[in-house]
Amino acid sequence: MGKLLIVGTVAFDEIETPFGKTDKILGGAATFIGLSASQFDVASAIVSVVGDDLPQEYLDLLENKNIDISGIEVVKGGKTFYWKGKYHNDLNSRDTLATELNTLADFNPIVPENFKNAEIVMLGNLHPSIQMGVINQMSERPKLIILDTMNFWMDNALDELLEVIKKIDVLTINDEEARQLTNEYSLVKAAKEIQKMGPKYVVIKKGEHGALLFHKENVFFAPALPLEEVFDPTGAGDTFAGGFSGYLATTNNISFENLKKAVIHGSNLASFCVERFGTERMQDLKREDVSKRLHQFKMLTQFDIELK
Ligand code: AMP
Repeated sequence: MGKLLIVGTVAFDEIETPFGKTDKILGGAATFIGLSASQFDVASAIVSVVGDDLPQEYLDLLENKNIDISGIEVVKGGKTFYWKGKYHNDLNSRDTLATELNTLADFNPIVPENFKNAEIVMLGNLHPSIQMGVINQMSERPKLIILDTMNFWMDNALDELLEVIKKIDVLTINDEEARQLTNEYSLVKAAKEIQKMGPKYVVIKKGEHGALLFHKENVFFAPALPLEEVFDPTGAGDTFAGGFSGYLATTNNISFENLKKAVIHGSNLASFCVERFGTERMQDLKREDVSKRLHQFKMLTQFDIELK
């Protein structure tokens, strides 16, 4: 069983979509990544920080999924990271209405001793200097370091972000953010620019239009499953990252061919996340449902064509 180290926010989210709105509910990049990766047989741990305003049941939920939460610092009297977002009618774009870093503002991450040799490190969305702090604590170079980020950090910590991007193997990023990072409109050109910054692989997520994996001159595309019910896209990108990294940790194979499969697993899991608000759908997702949908995925993308 491979070891997967996850870094990212554990958060309070408040979400509004055309289908309704929530109060403060459990969210955060690491939460979605952890729940998604728990669909695989991996030993995973989360490094993050919260305040003691976060209900214990949220931490219990992660622990009950066999995630090591000893690296989640609980700050006495502190407030948990808070994010508020509102989706537009097409659900493909959203406005961030509030980002309160709270305890994240001066967090010094501590990697649990038994995860310092994790093969796969999934640096989920949070401050790039925290992402760097985690890389620096690893006892040996992980087999694969994956990083996910968003426009907030490009706007607020670009220099630190570019430094950490130099050290990683895979960048996962959405289409608009890839354009912002590189000033290139074409995603093919953007992926080439990103590869020059450090990572050998680039995954560009395009919401309901699927995901692209780039490596040198190779491109692989996975569609998103067309769904009847989409309530809330929050966390879909992180759920993708959790499926992608969880699959790589369980197979312990980082060839391009296996990365393609990881993209499919990531897309498959993300298709569940959007069916309910927040983490609701991921909390009690059964492995048999995941596997059933993987069959649908295969059917969706398979065709016979004569090539001359
Ligand atoms: P996604 O929809 O995959 O981009 O991820 C949404 C999750 O990211 C939400 O649960 C938020 O709590 C979290 N989030 C939003 N903004 C940030 C940020 N600036 N840094 C880290 N996590 C964030």
